[in-house]
Amino acid sequence: MTPDLPHSSLSDLGNLTDYDPDSMPVSRAREFIGRFLQPVAALETVALRDAYRRTLAEDIVSGMNVPPHDNSAMDGYALRAADLAEGCTRFKVVGKAYAGAPCTQEIARGECVRIMTGALIPGGCDCVVMQEQTTADGDTVAIRGNHRAGQNIRRAGEDISRGATMLLRGQTIRPAEMGLLASLGFDQVRVYRTLRVALFSTGDELQQPGTPLGAGRIYDSNRYSLIGLLHELHVDIVDMGNVPDDPAALRAALLHAADDADAVITSGGVSVGEADHIKRLLAEIGEVVFWKIAMKPGRPLAYGKIGSCHFFGLPGNPVAVMVTFQQFVRDALRVLMGQHAAPAFTFAVTCTSPIRKLPGRTEFQRGILSQDEHGALRVRTTGEQGSGILSSMSQANCFIVLPEEQGNVEAGAEVRVQLFPY
Ligand code: AMP
Ligand code: MG
Repeated sequence: MTPDLPHSSLSDLGNLTDYDPDSMPVSRAREFIGRFLQPVAALETVALRDAYRRTLAEDIVSGMNVPPHDNSAMDGYALRAADLAEGCTRFKVVGKAYAGAPCTQEIARGECVRIMTGALIPGGCDCVVMQEQTTADGDTVAIRGNHRAGQNIRRAGEDISRGATMLLRGQTIRPAEMGLLASLGFDQVRVYRTLRVALFSTGDELQQPGTPLGAGRIYDSNRYSLIGLLHELHVDIVDMGNVPDDPAALRAALLHAADDADAVITSGGVSVGEADHIKRLLAEIGEVVFWKIAMKPGRPLAYGKIGSCHFFGLPGNPVAVMVTFQQFVRDALRVLMGQHAAPAFTFAVTCTSPIRKLPGRTEFQRGILSQDEHGALRVRTTGEQGSGILSSMSQANCFIVLPEEQGNVEAGAEVRVQLFPY
């Protein structure tokens, strides 16, 4: 669906004809959130060695050819193909060319230059014969086999030509981009400033790992899954711990986060009764919408703003928190970081387990993608799919994405899967 109206205020959302906060399709929720996202404005220059996983804030146009000069792809002898064509098989070796130490001598008819991989092609040469097809004898060399002009020569600009736009603003700098930038001579690069993301868990029942568990308490696992997910995005994490289900404490935590960070992520406290809590709070200090997303797991989800800070209120159940992060928050944060965030792709694969599924909501079942003995891909579910079964996320390497209209899946049917990015 394409956005029908731009919105400056979350309160306008209710005016849309197909807007139903109690049954919000996944794609619609993504699209609504997307309307409020602008990349951070501040840019900085960082040393290339520190640029890994930063987001490029400028297009990179090559000021040079890569490689800068024609050079040899092999160890061997550089010569003129025409001499071979005329029947010459023994050549006089008149010089040596090493990578970084070129041979400046121009060759004449019947002459050749001993050449190493990466060395500049000497003047007059248009062909490199690999060493294995030659026999050296004193200051001459015998050439075997058929050869043609241009062979074993890497042309100037064959990787990158001068003036070509090689990288676009918004590109994540991965290992290949680190190398590419270096090959163009960049030792520093303009990037978006690092995003700051605050997070805290809510719930009176939560206790921190490392302490003995009290009666009726559980360990706060969500904050740790979220810290892991955030590390993958290379943001600055402001870990605010666990906040009790107390309006004053929540208010103080949200205000503090909004002051300090570009986005704040919470888990828990957004199910029916509790949502009213945060709703009231956020009505005072910002604005927020609550959706029951037509998805499983992860039905309740809140999104809003406190000043310029984006608020993502994720559900409390440990699987739901990870699924909603991956389906909504991850791409939203990537946009804020300046990245072009296309939703993760899905692909079709045979499912070996039967799946029970009711039409009417998108399901993200945890799947294990593997190869059969012929190398064909297949997927099975991890078994029990309850939204509290966090071990399913650990066993899985993909989501089996079952669209809204889909009913039960028989074993052997095709499903679409979305690989975990890590
Ligand atoms: P809530 O949405 O706050 O009602 O939480 C839903 C379920 O998730 C409850 O069973 C909570 O105990 C559990 N839960 C909430 N927050 C966390 C957390 N940080 N770690 C583990 N479980 C949680
Ligand atoms: Mg709770």
